[in-house]
Amino acid sequence: MTDVAPAATETIERTLVLVKPDGVRRGLSGEILRRIEAKGYTLAAAHLLDATPELLAAHYAEHEGKPFYQPLVDFMLSGKILAVVAEGQGVVPGFRSLAGATNPTEAAPGTIRGDLGRDWGLKVQQNLVHGSDSDESAAREIALWFPGLGL
Ligand code: GDP
Ligand code: MG
Repeated sequence: MTDVAPAATETIERTLVLVKPDGVRRGLSGEILRRIEAKGYTLAAAHLLDATPELLAAHYAEHEGKPFYQPLVDFMLSGKILAVVAEGQGVVPGFRSLAGATNPTEAAPGTIRGDLGRDWGLKVQQNLVHGSDSDESAAREIALWFPGLGL
């Protein structure tokens, strides 16, 4: 089968991927990008940044008030994050499949979290990557992490 370029009217599907501070610290950014590209998704934008409490409060608004919320925010402030916009047909659920289950211990072998994630005791938040969970979340999150990009 040959690849066919999407028609001009076809919506380009995009997701926000974050390589969390544990992934950047452990030198896994390249391996994670490799898996995204090997699957056939395209990188549309990327930058390495320090998150701010304001950005994380907006990004994780749905989790505010949960017991893991503050530890999660503190962890996300503990080092550089690689923010990536990936494009491709079905990329939102597709990247969630590549990432695997939230808890690295439960994530299937073959997934990013299953192959590379470690069980850090209670620190389930150290699961290497974030991926948007719907097209609506992706649009909201891309606008937060890439303001002004106009995607
Ligand atoms: P995701 O969509 O698979 O990333 O999972 P969620 O949206 O449910 O949670 C957001 C993030 O919060 C996860 O990726 C983890 O980093 C963290 N998290 C979720 N559940 C727990 C938990 O029970 N304990 C801790 N410590 N962190 C959690
Ligand atoms: Mg989520």
